[in-house]
Amino acid sequence: MDDYGKNRIELVGVIGAGTMGQGIIQVTATGGMTVLAYDEKPGAAKAAKEKIADFLDRAVEKERMTAADASAATDRILIIDNLEDLAKADIVVEAIVENLDIKKTLFARLESIVAKDAILASNTSSLPITGIAAACESPGRVAGLHFFNPVPLMKLVEVIPGLRTESRVVDTLMDVGVRMGREPVLCADSPGFLVNHLGRGYMPEALRVLSEGIATHADIDRIMTGAPGFRMGPVTLVDMVGADVASPVMDAIYEQYYHEPAYQPSQILSLRRQGGILGRKSGGGFYEYSEGRKIEPKPVSIPDARPLRVRIGNGEIEGANALNALVEAAGVEIQSGSSEDTLTVLPLLGTGLSTAIAREGLDPTRTVAVDTLFGLRGVRTLMITPATSDEARAQAHGLLGADDTPVAVINDSPGFVAQRLVAMIVNVACHMAQRGVASPEDIDKGSRLGLNYPEGPFELAKEIGSNRICQILESLESFYGEPRYRPASWLRRRVDLGLPLDSPDAGL
Ligand code: NAD
Repeated sequence: MDDYGKNRIELVGVIGAGTMGQGIIQVTATGGMTVLAYDEKPGAAKAAKEKIADFLDRAVEKERMTAADASAATDRILIIDNLEDLAKADIVVEAIVENLDIKKTLFARLESIVAKDAILASNTSSLPITGIAAACESPGRVAGLHFFNPVPLMKLVEVIPGLRTESRVVDTLMDVGVRMGREPVLCADSPGFLVNHLGRGYMPEALRVLSEGIATHADIDRIMTGAPGFRMGPVTLVDMVGADVASPVMDAIYEQYYHEPAYQPSQILSLRRQGGILGRKSGGGFYEYSEGRKIEPKPVSIPDARPLRVRIGNGEIEGANALNALVEAAGVEIQSGSSEDTLTVLPLLGTGLSTAIAREGLDPTRTVAVDTLFGLRGVRTLMITPATSDEARAQAHGLLGADDTPVAVINDSPGFVAQRLVAMIVNVACHMAQRGVASPEDIDKGSRLGLNYPEGPFELAKEIGSNRICQILESLESFYGEPRYRPASWLRRRVDLGLPLDSPDAGL
């Protein structure tokens, strides 16, 4: 290693003092480095410094930092009025408008100002780092340093080398990220980088489920925040992000991956974007809002009806024990054979209910399915078909909710709701690992810290079983006939070999 190292970086330039720049200035200063803050809009950098000082004052009041540390951090922020004042900066982080030509022009100009070994980093969300670096005489000094909003609260930072970025630049940025109090992950220069790419699983698949009328938006959210443990339901998330932001990101990643079917955007979201039905920010999206608060639709009440007899069918997953206990606790007789008034309940893994009924020659009017993959805690998912009788539906609903646990009644769908959303998250992560976007470890980290998922996709797959994830995807692929659901080669290969899903490819 040359003279770059942890102690080398003391002076950091930040260009653009808007939403992101302000946060980057703050974490750089609290990380002990001196910041040169510049914004082309007069007064913007000074205003950002004042807001940071207020923020740090509140942190002192809440006893999260000492008054001395707060004032020292604020003092380390120096406002500059000319780009030329960046001459001595060790690193410059750019957080200006998201426009490739403007960023390229800025980077080319910076090269004429800073030292020849200074690092130039971009906080771009969607532009290729290699493209920005192309404007520079020394593209090896350029990399992405992608923060998340709000920066002081979001611990993750993505370090993104372009195709020509030197390894010393990557090492330095990883160190600087840690000094800024962040958790850096390494990510290839690729559409959506790590977090926005990984996000192609949860929200888009929920929109697909919604667009097919499989479940209501509120039930999709209730299911995912139940036993699978997601902190925010995918549809609430869409409404929070807004159709104006979420829809273009979906379109961009799909386009940049040349119409990869797994990343197909949702038509129902683009329609909302065009109609200005954006979500919380426009007062209405999939949910209605009153004074900025989501109005939660009331769940359908649980009927009093119970079946006389239940047969728990040969499911594809060992959920029978939990179902047995639930049926017994409701005082309903369990049968091994079936008579006319028997309700057949199938614990399925991946297979749709109609497919299972046809395969096993069951009575379509009196056969339902229950998702047992995540256990029977939280909201229980009851699947019916167009052939289910009203009586059987009410009896099954009453039975599953006999202990007042909420029940989401959904239409036939291979993989219910939770199984297919989780399988898609894992599959997207496997596509990413196969393309070398990031390591399984960093994908898991990015998922927890950048997307706030309860666990990373590789951790989830370990708990559930990669073979089961593969089975769900194969059922979806076979039912829909769409390559969207094909298991990633990374996944299929490790299932075939009986290897853990996070085992790396052989080095060449
Ligand atoms: P913003 O509009 O809040 O701030 C941009 C700031 O840059 C403004 O203060 C503007 O005056 C200044 N600016 C614009 N052009 C300039 C130039 N040529 N020279 C100097 N200053 C200039 O935008 P933002 O949300 O902070 O986004 C900044 C960058 O960060 C973009 O590349 C964006 O894609 C990326 N980003 C944004 C988010 C987010 O959630 N907002 C998250 C991650 C990354």
